[in-house]
Amino acid sequence: IETIGDIVRHHGRLHPHKIALIFQGERIDYQSLDARSNQIAHALLAAGIKPGQRIAHFGKNSADYFALVFAAAKIGAVLVGINWRLSPAEARYILIDSESRLLFSDRDMPPLLEADDQADNEPCRSILIGAGDESGLMAFYRPHAKSDPQIAVDDDAVLYQMYTSGTTGHPKGAEITHKGVLLPRQMDDLIDAREWHRWTGDEVQLVQAPVFHLTGNVWAMIGLYVGATLVVHRDFDMDRIFDDIEREKISHAIFVPAMLMAMVQHPRAKTTDYQSLVAIYYGASPIPLDLLRHALSLFQSDFIQLYGMTEISGSATYLPAADHDPSGDNPRMRSAGKPFPWARIKIIDELGQSLPPHQVGEVLIKTDTVMRGYWKRPDATQAVLSDGWFHTGDAGLLDEDGYLYIHDRIKDMIISGGENIYPARWKAAFLPIPAFAMWQ
Ligand code: AMP
Ligand code: MG
Repeated sequence: IETIGDIVRHHGRLHPHKIALIFQGERIDYQSLDARSNQIAHALLAAGIKPGQRIAHFGKNSADYFALVFAAAKIGAVLVGINWRLSPAEARYILIDSESRLLFSDRDMPPLLEADDQADNEPCRSILIGAGDESGLMAFYRPHAKSDPQIAVDDDAVLYQMYTSGTTGHPKGAEITHKGVLLPRQMDDLIDAREWHRWTGDEVQLVQAPVFHLTGNVWAMIGLYVGATLVVHRDFDMDRIFDDIEREKISHAIFVPAMLMAMVQHPRAKTTDYQSLVAIYYGASPIPLDLLRHALSLFQSDFIQLYGMTEISGSATYLPAADHDPSGDNPRMRSAGKPFPWARIKIIDELGQSLPPHQVGEVLIKTDTVMRGYWKRPDATQAVLSDGWFHTGDAGLLDEDGYLYIHDRIKDMIISGGENIYPARWKAAFLPIPAFAMWQ
């Protein structure tokens, strides 16, 4: 498996009738997912989409979305995710900035296109998802062959363009490559087996994390890479999650702390049978210790924290299950964990000097999964990438064992070399981390 398209090629051949996606009562096997993505790939080619060109998705999670991603992957096209929580004006900014030539959107999304919108001198066309009529996705791909489009795609090619916001200005499109998504999967066996779940393909994986964010995509690829079964939910719907934990026997899930908080407080939390749960992954914002303890005792599964960001195609560190001790006063419960084998972390001060353990500074990450850059924004790219190190804008420290601690309340004081300093540049650089991010 060298590119994302190979994932469905491989599993479509190896176990054609294994279920890849369960979505709204439909069960789609790997062979069908592979075939549907081929049909969409041919339809994209017929619509004039060339390698490197962009297509946009504006909608909630669906089985067709994943078929669309694999179709784009197979022809070297780039999938632009548009957050459906944005205002129509913000969403439209992303559509236009990305120069997308096709817009795939859910029926209930506001229209973003205006009559004379163009990309590369071609009109931008809109195709509805989940519609049976002439303009629908099914009508778009059904006339086309189920055969592989047979286009060579480089693993350095961009697959996703995911927009992320900074302190000021418009959101920027981070260009994520096939390799950036696949490398952690290929290096999975380098992680200490006592600290990390070996994904085998037997997993039943909940995918409610939104696909407009990189997390929903990378999370789904972890399971698809090994041929697991994904239970795809359109969005975060707790009743449906409690239903499917019992009915589909979900084994692996990922949540932001805000979701865990809502789940543990839900009336069904105490009456649900969690026997099938093996591992719960969480991250995206700091987690209150009380909540983590509560969730550990309720779900009785392994918990693994992830820390990362869009620009590095996912996670840089993980806090192993063994470092989650619900009873004791394990200080590591406050840590975001240690680097994956393919990532390095360093902490620097305001002059760019590496800091020793226990001193707070900016967290820098070096990894081969790093984005190619921000689309059409060389200055913004240069500002965050130097010598291969990505400047996260997060404040944190490392302990002597290499565990990372993210400081969410850096405010305007930074302790450097035992001194309290108030550097103006850093004040501007550090975004306050929202206590309860919702992948937006
Ligand atoms: P995004 O680019 O939307 O993926 O957001 C990435 C940001 O989320 C990081 O720069 C951090 O500020 C925050 N973040 C991600 N994971 C964690 C974590 N485990 N603990 C604390 N903050 C996190
Ligand atoms: Mg960000």
